[in-house]
Amino acid sequence: MRGFARRSTVAEAIGWLDSRVRRLGDERTALREAGGRVLAHDVASGVDVPGFVRAMMDGFAVRAADTIGASPYNRLPLNVVGESMPGRPFAGRAGPGLAVRIMTGAPLPEGADAVLPVELVEIQGDFIFAQGEVSPEKHIGRIGEDISAGSAVLSAGRRLRPQDIGVLSSIGAAEVVVVRRPRARIVVTGNELLPVGSQPAGARIVDSNGPMLEALVVRDGGLPIHPGIVPDEPGAILAALRSDADLVLVSGGSSVGQEDLAPSLLAEHGELAIHGLAMRPSRPTGMGMLDGRPVFLLPGNPVSCLCAYDFFAGRATRVLGGRSPEWPYRRLRASLKRKASSTIGRLDYLRVRCDGGLVEPLSIGGASLLSSTTRADGFVLIPEESEGYPAGTQVEVFLYD
Ligand code: AMP
Ligand code: MG
Repeated sequence: MRGFARRSTVAEAIGWLDSRVRRLGDERTALREAGGRVLAHDVASGVDVPGFVRAMMDGFAVRAADTIGASPYNRLPLNVVGESMPGRPFAGRAGPGLAVRIMTGAPLPEGADAVLPVELVEIQGDFIFAQGEVSPEKHIGRIGEDISAGSAVLSAGRRLRPQDIGVLSSIGAAEVVVVRRPRARIVVTGNELLPVGSQPAGARIVDSNGPMLEALVVRDGGLPIHPGIVPDEPGAILAALRSDADLVLVSGGSSVGQEDLAPSLLAEHGELAIHGLAMRPSRPTGMGMLDGRPVFLLPGNPVSCLCAYDFFAGRATRVLGGRSPEWPYRRLRASLKRKASSTIGRLDYLRVRCDGGLVEPLSIGGASLLSSTTRADGFVLIPEESEGYPAGTQVEVFLYD
């Protein structure tokens, strides 16, 4: 066993990644499937919404001038000549002395310029008596009031929200052009591993990294591909690395021991650009390119695997899919309940609990204890140049939720 000849800083690794990973191309998707997807182009509206003047209240379409002076003591009669319903407009014209029964969302008839709400009306057969005034344009929606033809609706890079889908539908979009979702091949290596759904037995443990990485990839907008556990054999690992996915995530065997096959395979058949990081956990992380695709070598220890994914592979997944490279975690500033020590020269990933407004350090080490991340509410980063923080220091917490 050898140590790492030289450890890269996290910033160097991110710099390498940002120089090599680019947004993927576009694809069309049905509007109904587009929620959460990343819009590839700006969208402008070709139409006005609404495309007609419409009633905003139930009542009677009238000429506002006909209601001047109307009150409960001065009821003004109007002759009801028809009705306008949503989707079924009145065919004729309104005009002086006339009213058209109208429902919310129905087109305002020609000749009318306001809606007299039903509350201001007494109905008697074919006549109504206005008992209040309305001004011109009252209770009507203008053409293009919601969206005007030619106007910008959504910008490229937008992650579509449910209401964005509704707006796109309102302008007649049946499909949208979105950034392709990155396909992430997950290569879980380890002769000791049993597949998801197994019971741990004897010296064998159940794969936690595979399903965790699948969930992380989904969170970051990718499509995980995890066909099964790969034995610690060079041929099997190389075959798995040579996938046609958009990026490859290898779990386990990423260090410099004799069972650590992935780094030398990547160096031999592609490019091992970074290997060994000045961080804890996740020191034995590597990354490079094979057949034009980014490959991330993530340590098998589950906390290291999570942390290395989050720092590097997750960023690549988000960038490939057109999302912001930044972490999707909410941030919170609060003070440390106890002191947190750290070592100069490496970045520490401190799991913490938020307890009554205070941040309680849990652990930096214990890379094999994944439950330390489920007990934690989030993590704090202690930079390379810091020896740690005394109790009471204001720190920034990244919340796992
Ligand atoms: P490795 O990086 O392959 O040397 O593995 C380091 C430690 O993590 C060993 O104790 C492995 O058994 C464990 N480990 C490796 N892969 C996984 C996995 N997919 N799920 C859970 N533990 C793992
Ligand atoms: Mg292993």
